[in-house]
Amino acid sequence: MDESENTQFRTEDFYNALSSSDLETTDNESQQGHSWTTQVKKRKRVATGSPATTHNNTVIRVPSLQNAPNKYLLIIASINPSIKLGRQNPIKIQKALSDSVGVAKNLKQLANGNLLIECQDKHQWKAIQQRTSIGEWSIRTSLPKSTTSSAGVIYNVPLDFDIEDEDLKSVMKGQKVSKATRLTYYDKNSNTRKTSRSVKLIFDVPILPQTINIGFNSYKIKLYVPNPIQCYKCQGYGHMAGNCSNKRKCRKCGEDHQSNECNTESPKCVNCKGDHPSNYKLCPSREQQKQALKVVKRDNITLHEANKQVKES
Ligand SMILES: [Zn+2]
Ligand SMILES: [Zn+2]
Ligand SMILES: [Zn+2]
Repeated sequence: MDESENTQFRTEDFYNALSSSDLETTDNESQQGHSWTTQVKKRKRVATGSPATTHNNTVIRVPSLQNAPNKYLLIIASINPSIKLGRQNPIKIQKALSDSVGVAKNLKQLANGNLLIECQDKHQWKAIQQRTSIGEWSIRTSLPKSTTSSAGVIYNVPLDFDIEDEDLKSVMKGQKVSKATRLTYYDKNSNTRKTSRSVKLIFDVPILPQTINIGFNSYKIKLYVPNPIQCYKCQGYGHMAGNCSNKRKCRKCGEDHQSNECNTESPKCVNCKGDHPSNYKLCPSREQQKQALKVVKRDNITLHEANKQVKES
């Protein structure tokens, strides 16, 4: 993960980053927007002063949810890494595109500066992939990760099942698994992260298979939905403190002081204004974030769009 690249983002960018990380072609599991947690990531969070408590793994169980039908999506990047197409004049970009391949159905800037294009049809989708330039820009195109892979989770995998075992790996590989990671959870009593019986699986197919066989057991595969990330500084969702440009707000009362220096008797949530601390696990705002993340995964849209949908419903 390139932290330095992320430090410039505002909230809006981070909403985009959250879902665009899913759309990236690079296999970057430790994108900021995702809170599936490996041990490596935990160390990183601790190092940046983020609270482990707000980054527990939660997997929302979504019954019989399959990935959305494929749209004709493409990522377009400049071949020159210092040129970010998403930061260019959008009107110029749009004109260059429509002059060369016709008007796109949808065009979005990803947090990393690349463009995500939704094509009108297969014909346009193929045409763009054959281009090496649009307008004045030399480009390369790639398929978003979500059109080539999918993430699921299986539960109750005995802890003595070593998912790093080479034999087991090859069994899983035969079932299209490109990566398996045990999820961890934050244990309040010991103040550490512990290994859970849930295993996250990355499949190199866009539609999640329904089951997987490991040993003599068949496991049902559920859609993997990352946990909302919450800012340690402003208590808002969708970004982390290191990238926060908002005012500091106390986790307990919402005023401008350190949360651990607060001795309020009447907590107030920054997000929903309810009478609980802002990191309350059952906060309606948090619930809304979870719903939105679910929609992101299901419908393959940005978190920003998903949040709008969830708010409206
Ligand atoms: Zn913040
Ligand atoms: Zn306070
Ligand atoms: Zn709340």
